[in-house]
Amino acid sequence: MNRVIHRRNSEAGERARQRQEREDQASRLSDEVPSLRTLRLAIRFERGEGSVESEHTRIVVVSRAPALFHVPCSDPHCRDGGHDLTGTIMAHLRARHGTFEGSASCHGGVGAASQPCSRVLRFEAAATYA
Ligand SMILES: [Zn+2]
Repeated sequence: MNRVIHRRNSEAGERARQRQEREDQASRLSDEVPSLRTLRLAIRFERGEGSVESEHTRIVVVSRAPALFHVPCSDPHCRDGGHDLTGTIMAHLRARHGTFEGSASCHGGVGAASQPCSRVLRFEAAATYA
């Protein structure tokens, strides 16, 4: 039992380390979209038939944020999951869109049998430019 818990912790640690590494290597948002001043994301997780599971708002610190928008899956049992919004969001920002929205399904697997994860992330973004 202890061993299982320990392994899980180090897997989570490894994932966090990899995420940190990707963020460090990614180009900066302020380099990719120099005119961007503020960015706010309202993020909502849904499961299956549109039932809302959780919601939060993220204020992006434009001056030092990486040009990377990868949100971990909200299901703690999901493995290798997550929602990659990078392509969608960067395209809107480069086009200087003030408000836009989108969604991304999780591509991970849940449980021992790795059932496909059904989590869907929806976001609404509000951006301002110089
Ligand atoms: Zn997932």
